[in-house]
Amino acid sequence: MKNDCIFCAIAEGEIPSFKVYEDDLVLAYLDINPCSEGHTLVIPKAHYAGLLDAPDAALGEILSRVKKVAAHIKEALPCDGFNILQNNGPAAGQSVFHLHFHIVPRREGGEPLSFKSGKGDMAALEALAARLRF
Ligand code: AMP
Ligand code: ZN
Repeated sequence: MKNDCIFCAIAEGEIPSFKVYEDDLVLAYLDINPCSEGHTLVIPKAHYAGLLDAPDAALGEILSRVKKVAAHIKEALPCDGFNILQNNGPAAGQSVFHLHFHIVPRREGGEPLSFKSGKGDMAALEALAARLRF
């Protein structure tokens, strides 16, 4: 547990949450500022600030729980689809620095999440892919 981390405090039960699922590894609870009905956060009980801070083995297990919770929500809510969001760093909109996955339920005909897209420049994309490829 990290001092002054609100999600650690939730995992420890020191701060209440609208719990949906819990096991030895993760806790899932409703986001108090939901993007849609059923918007749920899945957090590891261990503190990792973000994706790059979590060991690969733990991430695999955590993602399997994200899948489990999402599958349950899709049936129980129900919803037609869902987005998984995971923000890293303030520039990406991360506001709580304890790794968490958003499950955002979606319905047919509802507003899609907006990713404002530009027009791709093929030459620039080719050069960028060449620079980034590993
Ligand atoms: P992010 O912007 O990816 O860091 O997301 C943090 C999310 O945590 C936001 O969607 C907040 O609404 C949510 N949040 C913050 N505090 C709480 C809380 N006490 N219980 C549930 N959700 C919270
Ligand atoms: Zn924490």
